[in-house]
Amino acid sequence: MKILIVGAGIAGPTLAYWLLRSGHEPTLVERAPALREGGYLVDFWGAGFEVAERMGLVPRLIADGYRVREMREVSNSGKRIAHLNPLRVIDGAAAGRYVSIARSDLARAIYDSLDGQVETIFGDTVDEITETEDHAAVRFASGAAREFDLVIGADGLHSRVRSLAFGPEADFERYLGITVAAFNLDGYQPRDELVAVTRTQVGMQALRLALRDGSTMFCFMFRHDGQLPPDDVAAQQAILHERLRAAGWEVPRILDQLPHARTFYMDRASQIRMPTWSQGRVALVGDAAACPSLLAGQGSALAMVEAYILAAALHEAGNDYTTAFHQYQSRLGQLVRAKQDAAIGLGAAFAPRNRMQLLLRNTVIGLMGIPIVARLAVGRSLRDPIHLPPPATD
Ligand SMILES: Cc1cc2nc3c(=O)[nH]c(=O)nc-3n(C[C@H](O)[C@H](O)[C@H](O)COP(=O)(O)OP(=O)(O)OC[C@H]3O[C@@H](n4cnc5c(N)ncnc54)[C@H](O)[C@@H]3O)c2cc1C
Repeated sequence: MKILIVGAGIAGPTLAYWLLRSGHEPTLVERAPALREGGYLVDFWGAGFEVAERMGLVPRLIADGYRVREMREVSNSGKRIAHLNPLRVIDGAAAGRYVSIARSDLARAIYDSLDGQVETIFGDTVDEITETEDHAAVRFASGAAREFDLVIGADGLHSRVRSLAFGPEADFERYLGITVAAFNLDGYQPRDELVAVTRTQVGMQALRLALRDGSTMFCFMFRHDGQLPPDDVAAQQAILHERLRAAGWEVPRILDQLPHARTFYMDRASQIRMPTWSQGRVALVGDAAACPSLLAGQGSALAMVEAYILAAALHEAGNDYTTAFHQYQSRLGQLVRAKQDAAIGLGAAFAPRNRMQLLLRNTVIGLMGIPIVARLAVGRSLRDPIHLPPPATD
């Protein structure tokens, strides 16, 4: 089948990889003029790690990734007040099968695995999808018109395909009350190699992690009413200034350097909950279908699992896409819901609502430093209760 995939983030190119292997003809269309840069580290274990393994990506992800050896909570003066060693916590439970990698390095690794074999249209998007009995007619923003057998929306939290085929975002979005900004600065000091340094206060958290190219990655999370001017970086940065200027630690100094940020990403921590991920010849995958939110920390791995299972279902069902779409959702529904439910309560760990929650959070971090407590607390969440079908290959 000729299959249009809208969005070249994580889910889109993963789906293209597996569709290509099962004999389909995928086309990617990405709104940005090139692969998007920026974002924070994403973590991989469980089923997401297995999909990456089946794509032969793991050696590259490990080479490009980071093994953060300490998560350190500090006071305004920079003094360590709680810490834990994530390697000790995760290594034991995941038996070494995990990696943390910058979101943009992951996206690049997946896209490179397509090896130039998938037509990719950058700087365009879909304006109209009209279904007929034997195809989906697509009109692009550039004015071009083409026909496909299927259209898959892999265009993220604010999916246009979802709006076109299923209805407005507000019908499906559940905002979790926290907004996230991630950016990189060159030459920032101090560095604290392989230590994720956090300063958490009531209503906010600031985090920095030094990268091996000499830059530092920052991630700010803060409670916010959710209003965010889309695609307007200056206005978004103004919100960041206004909300966080009074925060202590290194925050005012970091904000002063924002105009020099190499990359900048800011969005709401929201979930997408939909009763169905497909409608006729159109289906959704990744954040577009079932975003677990930035707080869940596993959106990328989950997006890859969804793309893999969608491709496998299409392979198994032949050209019977209706059956395939149904299979795809029924295999994943439970896992996705469990991850979404688990993420709801995580806001207090990143941006506590009050001093009581802050105190509790720091006490839990301290306790997690005890390996047995950590393994009991984290161990279960490192296993995904899903069986991956055989790869979709011809
Ligand atoms: C720049 C960036 C930084 C991110 N940083 C983080 C982070 O730090 N931590 C984290 O947990 N998650 C982050 N995310 C979200 C994370 O990538 C997703 O939660 C997860 O990987 C699911 O992947 P996805 O492919 O479904 O969506 P995404 O990774 O969001 O990819 C969607 C892609 O679709 C493209 N797109 C959007 N609208 C259209 C359109 N109308 N037409 C065509 N293409 C379109 C986007 O440009 C993007 O390339 C970030 C996403 C982006 C785009």
